[in-house]
Amino acid sequence: MTDQPTPSPPLSPESLAVRQRIIDKLIAKGGGSPLCPVCQHRAFSVGPYVNLPVTVDPQVMALGQYLPCVSFACDNCGFTLLINLLNHFTPSELAGLTVNAIG
Ligand SMILES: [Zn+2]
Repeated sequence: MTDQPTPSPPLSPESLAVRQRIIDKLIAKGGGSPLCPVCQHRAFSVGPYVNLPVTVDPQVMALGQYLPCVSFACDNCGFTLLINLLNHFTPSELAGLTVNAIG
């Protein structure tokens, strides 16, 4: 038996529409088909959100301060990158980007 991660459950149609909104925003800024820096593949999948903690003091983690990011993973090698959603959505729009799995 291997320690493989559990596959993500399928997303609801509403959640798929949210992911498409994110992709559409990236395409609008010219980011439609990124090149993987590891394997040169051009197919990425939208992954989960990552709230990246930020601080002005490298020795202190300030609670509640973060960059709201979405992850993208290369479909071939798994290289993962983060996109800061504040470059594409207003803080109030972020509230409409929640995704839910079916079931
Ligand atoms: Zn890759």
